[in-house]
Amino acid sequence: MTKETKCKVGGCENDVFQVGFCTKHYAQNYRHGKILKRTRYDSNEVINRGTYSEVIVYTGYSNPVEGARFKIDNCDVAKITNYKWCIHDINSKTIHPYITTHVKGSNKKIPLRSVIIKGYVSGITRVRFINKDKLDYRRENLLIS
Ligand SMILES: [Zn+2]
Repeated sequence: MTKETKCKVGGCENDVFQVGFCTKHYAQNYRHGKILKRTRYDSNEVINRGTYSEVIVYTGYSNPVEGARFKIDNCDVAKITNYKWCIHDINSKTIHPYITTHVKGSNKKIPLRSVIIKGYVSGITRVRFINKDKLDYRRENLLIS
């Protein structure tokens, strides 16, 4: 029989650190007394819908917000997967759902639209959502002026 070398948490591919857990899950189990489904360090889930992709965004630790997923073109997926995306004020009537990522080691936030649009348009002043869906970041839906 071979010794188990992968973390015992389902779906985790990390090597075992102690008592069958990897370092991340060992720390989680120690700190919370259980394994959290998601942590703030997990990246956003991307669902391929064929002609576009949906990205699930979370607030805080692990609670998915109802309807909190944004659409992007499949060709933009690679641009956004290096960042962890959070959503703010989804229920606010005045502030539009603002999807941002944090710059590591600072308080600076980068809006999603900048990451999506950067690279094919420069000198953007304003982005509007043509179909009024402020979570639809597919290029055909963005009116840039
Ligand atoms: Zn693990």
